Amino acid sequence: MSKKDNIPYKIYLSEQESPKAWYNVRAEMKTAHRPILHPGTHKPVTEEDLRPVFCDELVKQELNDKDSFIEIPASIRDFYKMYRPSPLVRARFLEQALQTPARIYYKYEGGNTSGSHKLNSAIAQAYYAKAQGLKGVTTETGAGQWGTALSMACGYFDLDCRVYMVKVSAEQKPYRKIVMETYGANVTPSPSDTTNIGRKMLADDPNTTGSLGCAISEAVEAAVSAEGYKYVLGSVLNQVLIHQSVIGLEAKAALERYDAYPDILIGCAGGGSNLGGLMAPFMADRLAGKKSPRFIAVEPASCPSMTRGRFAYDFCDTGMVTPLAKMYTLGASFIPASNHAGGLRYHGMSPILSQLYHDGYLDEARAVGQRSVFEAAGLFAKVEGLLPAPESAHAIRVTIDEALKCRESGEEKTILFGLTGTGYFDLAAYAQYNDGTMEDYIPTDADLARGFAGLPDVSDAE
Ligand SMILES: *Cc1c(COP(=O)(O)O)cnc(C)c1O
Repeated sequence: MSKKDNIPYKIYLSEQESPKAWYNVRAEMKTAHRPILHPGTHKPVTEEDLRPVFCDELVKQELNDKDSFIEIPASIRDFYKMYRPSPLVRARFLEQALQTPARIYYKYEGGNTSGSHKLNSAIAQAYYAKAQGLKGVTTETGAGQWGTALSMACGYFDLDCRVYMVKVSAEQKPYRKIVMETYGANVTPSPSDTTNIGRKMLADDPNTTGSLGCAISEAVEAAVSAEGYKYVLGSVLNQVLIHQSVIGLEAKAALERYDAYPDILIGCAGGGSNLGGLMAPFMADRLAGKKSPRFIAVEPASCPSMTRGRFAYDFCDTGMVTPLAKMYTLGASFIPASNHAGGLRYHGMSPILSQLYHDGYLDEARAVGQRSVFEAAGLFAKVEGLLPAPESAHAIRVTIDEALKCRESGEEKTILFGLTGTGYFDLAAYAQYNDGTMEDYIPTDADLARGFAGLPDVSDAE
């Protein structure tokens, strides 16, 4: 029997084997992503520009394109011990159900109270805020996983945590709010009347259900106008991809034990952090010409930033207060249709992932309809036992499709996907799917044109 057939259902690394440094794929990229620009001057941002908004150490990480490895501080490694290393699971029951010769693995990041991978970065950001002597941090949350993760991290380090939660999510997921408050966070539905930008949004449209971009604007305003506070963000930024590299480093080490290596690597992509993290060490092999796994990013057909967006400079928020990033974007004013239930609703994509996609290293982006996503989630739940987050189920959908292709062709490919979280707070969406009221809405070109019309005019001689 080869080592490959001898793989246990779950592979756990030991505490000693867990990574001591994060991996920064930027240091290896063939083409650097275009610089982040100051929203007023359109000049590349400097450390000084970013310091009023972010913690000092995180500013350095944000701009770091030199160091491949960044040491993980001991306090963060201690916290990671509570829920890491996370298991790498061989999805044998899914393979059996699909009758595929493919070998399917998933890296499971849902084994903590926040229910997602977001805690990996939340604890790092809270640590640096505490180390700098801050009173607290502000942030936004959409579906609520990031807000929960940050609440946990701030609770641990005794920092004040102010969360602006997209109004429609706050209404749909009251229990999320309660979890965050239990960890000591202060949760405000956004738009709110506590900021200038929130008041303006409400005046423009009193019935607005809010958006992630708008919640970001409020959180940034709240941070810069309060002494001792900084703003933190759970995805998109380079620093977040650095922290999330623990996912990929652990997955790679676990696979290496059994001489396994992915032919296909699949991740759902909202702002790009879990995929960026899972992919990073494998991308390093690809960039070094050692291996050529196929990378696939999966996004909702209702929020198709990579498959139908523009590669352009855009604001990271609706209020147009954040710096400009060159990324695949639907325009900062884009808001997915209200019947969209599957998460991944951000208008843009990580500049790192965007550049890798533009250059053909991230091979493919695929958009999937939400009913097919929930169908995949249901199958996965039945055979593998875990109720996946709808976001994660995007990756499951494409994993199943790729495994079925292997059944047709007889190829024994190794597929690795990121199971980013659990779906216990997404039961309203599951209910919609179960009772047949869930609909797919794919934006028309005219819908998208409205978002593109708001793109800032930035001359970018590349
Ligand atoms: C936030 C989230 C995502 C998407 O965010 P990325 O930054 O693209 O990883 C995916 N899955 C879960 C469970 C999430 O909470």
